[in-house]
Amino acid sequence: MNDCLFCKIVTKEFPAEIIYETGRTLAFRDIKPQAPTHVLVIPKEHHADAAALAEADEGLADDVLKSAHAVAVQEGVAGDGYRIVFNTGPGAGQTVFHVHAHVLGGRALTWPPG
Ligand code: AMP
Ligand code: ZN
Repeated sequence: MNDCLFCKIVTKEFPAEIIYETGRTLAFRDIKPQAPTHVLVIPKEHHADAAALAEADEGLADDVLKSAHAVAVQEGVAGDGYRIVFNTGPGAGQTVFHVHAHVLGGRALTWPPG
């Protein structure tokens, strides 16, 4: 049995505001947005984190990155600039262990993030 929340969003067992989808990826709005645009982009296939995604099937990490950029364009934040973040591991603040790219934009994003 798969108890992964984001796998359940993929299968539509759990609701989400899906804004973009390809054959291998899905993008939906973060439930607790940290910026005017805050979208999570995931591979439909379960991989725990960015390290696992990097070792996944040919091109899957590529697809996630391409979808993250497509989301930024669709959301109208690509021109001003946006941030793509993969929190990887508990020490980096990862709380959901189905890899996801945070796509953040729509406000000034300072660096370092703190
Ligand atoms: P991270 O801390 O990098 O693992 O990010 C997990 C993100 O998932 C957080 O920004 C949460 O707000 C978000 N999140 C948790 N549950 C949901 C949900 N059901 N729908 C959308 N976003 C969620
Ligand atoms: Zn999953």
